[in-house]
Amino acid sequence: MSHHGRRGRGHGPTVQVVGAAPGANIPAGEEAPSLTVTMLGAGQEVGRSCCVIQHRGKTIVCDAGLHPAYPGLGGLPFIDELDWASVDAVLVTHFHVDHAAALPYIMEKTNFREGNGKVYMTHATKAIYGLTMMDTVRINDQNAESGQLYNEADVQASWQNAIAIDYHQDIVVSGGLRFTPYHAGHVLGASMFLIEIAGLKVLYTGDYSREEDRHLVIAEIPPIKPDVLICESTFGVHTLPDRKDKEEQFTTLVGNIVRRGGKVLMPIPSFGNGQELALLLDEYWNEHPELQGVPIYFASGLFQRGMKVYKTYVHTMNANIRSRFARRDNPFDFRFVKWLKDPKRLDHSQPCVVMASAQFMSFGLSRELLEQWAPDPKNGVIVTGYSIEGTMARTLLGEPDHIESLRGGNNIPRRCTVKEISFGAHVDYRQNSQFIQEIGAPHIVLVHGEASQMNRLRAALRDTYATRGQEINIHTPRNLEPLTLTFRTERIVKAIGSLAEERPVHGAEVKGLLVSKDFSYTLLDPKDLRDFTGLSTSTIVQKQSLPIGVDWSVVRWYLEGMYGEVEDGKDEEGRETITVMNAVRVVRISDIEIQMQWVSNTSNDMIADSALVVLLGIDTSPATVKLTATKKHSHSHSHSHGEGEGHDNHEGDDELRDANADFETLHMFLEAHFGDVTHPETQVAEGDEDNLLVMKVTVDGVVATVDLISMKVECESDELRKRVEGVLEMALTTLTPLSRLFAGQGIEQVDEGTEVAAAA
Ligand SMILES: [Zn+2]
Ligand SMILES: [Zn+2]
Repeated sequence: MSHHGRRGRGHGPTVQVVGAAPGANIPAGEEAPSLTVTMLGAGQEVGRSCCVIQHRGKTIVCDAGLHPAYPGLGGLPFIDELDWASVDAVLVTHFHVDHAAALPYIMEKTNFREGNGKVYMTHATKAIYGLTMMDTVRINDQNAESGQLYNEADVQASWQNAIAIDYHQDIVVSGGLRFTPYHAGHVLGASMFLIEIAGLKVLYTGDYSREEDRHLVIAEIPPIKPDVLICESTFGVHTLPDRKDKEEQFTTLVGNIVRRGGKVLMPIPSFGNGQELALLLDEYWNEHPELQGVPIYFASGLFQRGMKVYKTYVHTMNANIRSRFARRDNPFDFRFVKWLKDPKRLDHSQPCVVMASAQFMSFGLSRELLEQWAPDPKNGVIVTGYSIEGTMARTLLGEPDHIESLRGGNNIPRRCTVKEISFGAHVDYRQNSQFIQEIGAPHIVLVHGEASQMNRLRAALRDTYATRGQEINIHTPRNLEPLTLTFRTERIVKAIGSLAEERPVHGAEVKGLLVSKDFSYTLLDPKDLRDFTGLSTSTIVQKQSLPIGVDWSVVRWYLEGMYGEVEDGKDEEGRETITVMNAVRVVRISDIEIQMQWVSNTSNDMIADSALVVLLGIDTSPATVKLTATKKHSHSHSHSHGEGEGHDNHEGDDELRDANADFETLHMFLEAHFGDVTHPETQVAEGDEDNLLVMKVTVDGVVATVDLISMKVECESDELRKRVEGVLEMALTTLTPLSRLFAGQGIEQVDEGTEVAAAA
């Protein structure tokens, strides 16, 4: 049986379909949600990108890179600071070493395997990841002193376990956690991730570019405004020259070096920049017949194999490439750019252009050629990508007189020219700030930038927003410095099914069953539960048998007195029934036994409670004696009760009822709760008027006096007074014919024995 204290006008849970105040009507145990961003790498630095996003018990890691300047374990992000078994998803933006190369280590050498986390990357990223990582292992092995982080088997296993996804695919990781990759420009396969955790949206850009080049689609603006933007800041406040100027400067420079009889060394990564520059040079040579005798080489087997990937993913590239491809002119079938299969065969006596795969010239062929060519002033080095601090490429840009030799520390004079033309495929200040403003997130987290660049960018962005009178939160967390953001708790409850059939009126209340799943709330009619949520439903039918020592008509009289209207009927077995408030059916089992039947739910239980009080009180009520004595009376008149005006006056027997029935009901209620309650005196001796029409409730020797005229309760004990007032209020509500206050929820369901919810 439900408890009396639970009544609140007898309705089920009521929810307002608006952003609820914290805690209001929402299941307990959910604190104000905060989002934590922790950089395990690339916090105020470039390299070893690894960004941990945590919210509502979910953990997502964006990128898992190595720092190219630090060898061995030193190149890893601060992975010990995270319990990798708790990670739900690792999202890899692109194949670059500083974003993906820690992946085999994390997947194979940490407790990541013990959890349920999955690793996601686009198809093209996965294809290139497989190629480049094998190469990374080989280079690391050659460079043994840096220590082996993982071997080919680890790379193979990590590659196999990575899930390949498409751009714009909506991927549901687990309840309340989903994400979608968008084009990021930058390199083939690169993506930004729009991550949604329990309704909170975070856009993580990875490295991105907004400049149309020969082959890539530029970074997209996702159609949804995120709450947080985690954004690269590599170039800080630098403005890069216009793309056309840059291309012209580059091709002219290459042309000039070979015309003066020099050799051009371009350290290029095997993927991304390399393909783009090869496209550019092939085109330029095509337009300049006088240069066609000078060979252009790419000295990388990996580059050669990678070309297959590029030819495969033409459909994800920009309109320029796709239209050439459609004309059966595959731009990646170069006319002048050739593979230098065996670097030993290179003719060092002639001008040439060599694009050598580079780990920023720290080692490998590009380093060997640099050491050979550096002393000759006719030669030239062109640094075309972003060069990470601590690498040879960066050192060289300072135009040192000598460079270190990997062979034995001998200083090699540097007389060759060094020029940086950045095709880094990162956004510059103008593009980045424009993108940030277009995204319009209230929180911006700058990552993947050196501290000084980042701080200048933050200052510049603040100025931009301040001059427009807009507020913006820009964060620049250091590694391992958790950034915690709290958000206003606005929760939305969606009404569905039959509750949503009618357009709601503003301010109106909607009632139904509140279902919470994956951090979202749905309100629906219990009968829609099975159709809309897949939750199974069950019915609890309550039955309560009572011995009864009075005639059926007396039972009816009491129930009618209590509820105003009752419904007579017969049950399936032909027994007489009285139904109260369309909720509780009282069945006449025999002359000495009745049974209450109802479908259990909050409101029906409450009606049953009150009916039970009435039925249990029949035997002891003085009215019963009189009724039983005059039992020939039949109750044929209908009762009409005006709203709130109490009871009509009737003749004869009805006087008894009208004079005392309400008091009797009150008495019954109080007695059911407190046991010892006096009956009200209707006549008292002079001077004893205080005892006229009062009931005295005694609990543990403490007396509370109920004045039946004012309905005030007096008592020395506040606690008892409040309890009595509570019961009194409940009883008074009941005295207003309940059948008019609200209707119960379907006695007919007792017969059918189906439906009505008990949902999880
Ligand atoms: Zn990159
Ligand atoms: Zn990067």
